[in-house]
Amino acid sequence: MSARYDVAVVGGGLLGAALARELASDGVDVLLLERDQINQHASGRNAGSLHFQLEYRMIERGLDAARRAAEAIPLHLESARLWQELGAEIGPALGVAQRGGLMLATDAEGARRLEAKAELERSWGLEVSVLDRTETHRLAPYLADTVLAASYCPDEGKANARTAAPALCRAAVGLGADVLTRVGVTGLEREGSRWKIRAEQNSVPMTFEADIVILAAGVWCDELAAMMGSAVPVEPVALTMSVTARTAPFTPYLIQHAGARLSLKQTAEGNVLIGGGWPARLASHADGTVDLRGRGEIVSTSLAGNAAAAIAAVPSVTSLPVLRTWVGTTTLAPDQLPVVGPLPGAPGAFVATGGSVFTLGPAFAVLLSELVQGRTPRLDLRPYRVDRFDRDEAVRDAG
Ligand SMILES: Cc1cc2nc3c(=O)[nH]c(=O)nc-3n(C[C@H](O)[C@H](O)[C@H](O)COP(=O)(O)OP(=O)(O)OC[C@H]3O[C@@H](n4cnc5c(N)ncnc54)[C@H](O)[C@@H]3O)c2cc1C
Repeated sequence: MSARYDVAVVGGGLLGAALARELASDGVDVLLLERDQINQHASGRNAGSLHFQLEYRMIERGLDAARRAAEAIPLHLESARLWQELGAEIGPALGVAQRGGLMLATDAEGARRLEAKAELERSWGLEVSVLDRTETHRLAPYLADTVLAASYCPDEGKANARTAAPALCRAAVGLGADVLTRVGVTGLEREGSRWKIRAEQNSVPMTFEADIVILAAGVWCDELAAMMGSAVPVEPVALTMSVTARTAPFTPYLIQHAGARLSLKQTAEGNVLIGGGWPARLASHADGTVDLRGRGEIVSTSLAGNAAAAIAAVPSVTSLPVLRTWVGTTTLAPDQLPVVGPLPGAPGAFVATGGSVFTLGPAFAVLLSELVQGRTPRLDLRPYRVDRFDRDEAVRDAG
């Protein structure tokens, strides 16, 4: 006989952990299944930025692309609030510190871009101001002289990517969720009004049943959706991160750049985390197909580019030894917006992935929890529908 649940969540990253906690706190009988260890993949390897301003990848392709990306700002506002609440509830293990974020400009074009970006963000309700050169250097005297302006968002900050998902998972278990690790889902079949979940632990088969299945499986969402006869239109992307040795506290801010791939922040222990979306190489099988379980490779030009961007913004990092560089793998949708909601053609199945799921995980957890409990989600999820690309293609074809 199978163990039966109201909701099964597949994936024990930040999103799965936040979902299990949220559902359990509403009294839902929830099971979380994780094939490896909690937080072993993207959620434990990312930069830990809580970024609510439009990122460089969203503004580099002009104002129209930025306008489309800005449609996700309501999700960011909700997450900004929820991270604060979670920080107060769960405490230091989340490592939440929302002390503000600066996005830098080092030329006149960049400064103009910041103004247009801030206007767009404010029109969606995000608190952002643009600081001139003097104001920027007064706030952050360690920035390079070349910095001409910065947009400042007081809600931005960081959480500890190494500890946040495990802390949320412990909270979920405390609220009654069942969490099983080393259990990989191998099959998802519809039986009547429920899902039959086939899984394996150390090659031993197991089965579970659930009314609802939520895919929180990062780059594996599409693979799992295929088991349900559906698809998730995201691509896997490998990215580079580095961490330096500890140094005395010098910045409380999340630092990004409007004209370069850069995120830079200092951890509570004093290390400087450097990232910002520099590409790495996905691992591949012998036949050339992508191996999502394999170790991605660092690309030397990305490593050099990321270091140069960091030093150009904060020159003092030149003297800090780099302790480690690593690769993480995440998902992106073609329009850079997240993918959240029901899985087309798979009744009772839901998914969330795409983009900054570390920042947005708490909002996705609340919205999906409302949706699967039959409540109207507090935010309109239609812009993030899984099937929006089919519709766009259909519209183009019709035109
Ligand atoms: C280098 C890097 C830096 C980033 N920086 C940031 C940042 O600063 N801020 C931000 O917001 N975002 C950032 N991101 C993106 C962010 O890390 C991801 O969007 C987020 O962690 C995804 O969380 P998740 O829980 O959806 O997926 P994951 O953390 O990937 O978790 C999915 C889990 O599903 C499990 N799973 C998969 N298949 C199965 C199966 N068949 N059975 C059971 N379990 C399964 C996996 O083992 C995995 O543990 C970054 C990403 C990278 C790679």
